Amino acid sequence: MIIFGTKARTKTIDSGTFFCPHCQTTRSYELKKAKNYFALYFIPIIPLNDLGEFVECQTCRTTFDAQVLTMPQAQKPKRGVTLAEMLNTIKPQLEGGMPIEYLLRDLTSAGLDRDVALTTIDAAIGKERRICPTCGLTYAAAVSTCSEDDTPLEADRNRTNA
Ligand SMILES: [Zn+2]
Ligand SMILES: [Zn+2]
Repeated sequence: MIIFGTKARTKTIDSGTFFCPHCQTTRSYELKKAKNYFALYFIPIIPLNDLGEFVECQTCRTTFDAQVLTMPQAQKPKRGVTLAEMLNTIKPQLEGGMPIEYLLRDLTSAGLDRDVALTTIDAAIGKERRICPTCGLTYAAAVSTCSEDDTPLEADRNRTNA
């Protein structure tokens, strides 16, 4: 008795990383091509119709249309520092010698309202400030010299008296 039928065969044609809609994160994928074969005794012999390409997530094993690779990876985590990361590092950055004006500029350019940024800075390092008599930049009370010109900082009287 001769047993014949069709059998689908897949072949990996490419691999890389993509944004997996199932895992909701960047995963590695394999791009596979499926083909139907005419099979004799379950051995594929003659390639029949092309079943097309599909993408398989190597983590969750979900398969997607190959179109998934051309989708904009908008949900991919953004490169660079996020506002949340910036807020978490306010205190170490300022106490490490970063001028308050510089941090304020970074926070506002990241989309934070200036008043909110000022309040956030006060919350992180307190209201006390030291000022550089040479360039006028202000620093956290823990900083002793200006990072721009190495001038010893003075207490900011305008602020502490207010
Ligand atoms: Zn996945
Ligand atoms: Zn200075």
